[in-house]
Amino acid sequence: MDKELNHKIFKHIAEVAGKIQQETYVIGGFVRDLYLKRPSKDIDIVTLGSGIELAENVASTLKPRPKVTVFKNFGTAQFKYRNYEVEFVGARKESYSHDSRKPVVENGTLEDDQNRRDFTINALALGLNEYNFGQLVDPFNGLNDLENKIIRTPLDPSITFSDDPLRMMRAIRFSTQLGFEIETKTLQAVARNKERIKIVSAERIADEINKIMMAPLPSVGFKLLEETGLLEIIFPELQKMKGIDVVNGTGHKDNFYHTLEVLDRISPNTDNLWLRWSALLHDIAKPATKKFVDGQGWTFHAHNFVGAKMIPKIFRRLKLPLNEKMKYVQKMVVLHMRPIVLSEEEVTDSAVRRLLFEAGDNIDDLMTLCEADITSKNSQKVKRYMKNFKIVRRKLKEIEEKDAVRNFQPPVSGELIMEVFGISPSREVGLIKDAIKDAILDGEIRNNYKEAYSFMLKKAHELGLTPKVRD
Ligand code: ATP
Repeated sequence: MDKELNHKIFKHIAEVAGKIQQETYVIGGFVRDLYLKRPSKDIDIVTLGSGIELAENVASTLKPRPKVTVFKNFGTAQFKYRNYEVEFVGARKESYSHDSRKPVVENGTLEDDQNRRDFTINALALGLNEYNFGQLVDPFNGLNDLENKIIRTPLDPSITFSDDPLRMMRAIRFSTQLGFEIETKTLQAVARNKERIKIVSAERIADEINKIMMAPLPSVGFKLLEETGLLEIIFPELQKMKGIDVVNGTGHKDNFYHTLEVLDRISPNTDNLWLRWSALLHDIAKPATKKFVDGQGWTFHAHNFVGAKMIPKIFRRLKLPLNEKMKYVQKMVVLHMRPIVLSEEEVTDSAVRRLLFEAGDNIDDLMTLCEADITSKNSQKVKRYMKNFKIVRRKLKEIEEKDAVRNFQPPVSGELIMEVFGISPSREVGLIKDAIKDAILDGEIRNNYKEAYSFMLKKAHELGLTPKVRD
C-alpha cells in the first residue's frame, strides 16, 4: 500500500533530490505514523549521498528560507518548516563495539540504513524520487506488523538489543504507546539481554519511562519491564513492591499491581507527568515500612513520609529534575492518605481547612490522586468513598470561598508581633504565630487582620506579655 504524500515539503525535496541526482526517501517514525494516522511533527529524510548538501539545497528553495542547523560530526542537518522538524541524513551502515551504544558509521545503501533500524514498523520508507514518489519500500514486512500490531526487530533481536540496549526500552515504550504486542522472540531477547541496559545513560532510560508514563495505560509498560527483568535493574524500588507476604494466614495486597492500577486510573484524568509520577510513587515505602502486628494485621506505618524521603535518591539516579517538580511529587506522596482518612470520619470544617492549608494550590491534584487510589474490589466500599470524596470536594470549595486558606498568609506577621510587644525574635513570637494559625484553621477566628490582632493580644496576655504600643 503506497501513500499519497500530500504535504508540499515532499514535492520540494523530490524536486531538489532529482536535480542533484540523489536517491532520497522519507523513513522511520513519520512513515509509521502516517499509516497509523497519528500526528507526527518529525520528518526524517534519508538520502544516498550527503544529507547536509540536500538539506542546504532544499532550504534554499523554500520561502521564507529556513535556517539550517548542521551537525557535521553526525553528517546530519535539520531545519524547521512550518510545524515540522525536518532532518536529513546520508544512508548509513553501522557497526557496534561491546561497551558502547555509539556505532562506527560508514556510508551505505538504503537497505543498510533500513537494517540498522530498531523495529520493522520503524524501517518503512517512502520514495521521494520521480520514479518512485510515495512508493513504499518495506523489506521486513513492517506494514504487516503495523496491521497486526506487532513489535519485531528487522534482524536477529539478540544482536539488535545487544548492539544498542536502549532499543529494549523503546520496544516496551512503543508497545505501551501504540497498544502493540511484542513478538515472542523479540520479548525473549529483551529478557536475555537485560544486563546490557547498564550501558545506557540514565537520561535516555528516564525519557523512555516518561513516555511510558504518558501512555493511556502505563501499566502495560511497567508489567513488561518487570516480566523481562529490566525493572529490577533500572527501578529496584518498584520491583520490591511486587509480592504478597502472609503471616497467620493474613496477606496484604500486592503493592506493585495496586500501584499500576492507580497509575492507569489516574491517567484519563490528568496529563500532568508529575501527578502521574506521584501515583507511581505514592506507596513506594510500603516494603520498607511493612510490619505484621498481632491484633492489627499488616501495617505500613508512616509510609507516606518515608516514601517522600526516598524520592530524591530515585530522582537523582534517573536524572529527573530535583527542583519544584520533585518537591511537588514529595508533597503529593506525603499527603496522599489525608483525604481518605478525612472522608472516613465526619468531614469537619476544621479538618478540611487544615487539608487546604497544607495542600495549597495542589489540592485538586491531591483529590485526583486519592480518587485513583481507591482500587478496592468491594463496590459498596468504592461507592462510599466516592460519595465521601464528593462531600470533601464540596466542602473544600465552600471553605475556600469563605476562609481563603488555600495559600495561607498569616494576617499578623512576626514583625508586627515583635513591634507590638517590643520583643526580639524568640520562642514567644513563634508560639503566638502558630496559635493564630491554629485558631484560623480550627475556625475559632476568621482569616482577617482584625480578628487575628485581638487573638494575638489574648494569646500574648496568657504568655505574660503586654503591648508596648497601642493599635
Ligand atoms: P518518537 O518520536 O515517538 O520517539 P520515532 O520512531 O519517531 O518515535 P525517533 O527517536 O525520533 O523515534 O527515531 C526516528 C527513527 O529513527 C525511528 O523510527 C527508527 O527508525 C530510528 N531509530 C531511532 N532510535 C533508534 C535506535 N536506538 N536504534 C535503531 N533505530 C532507531
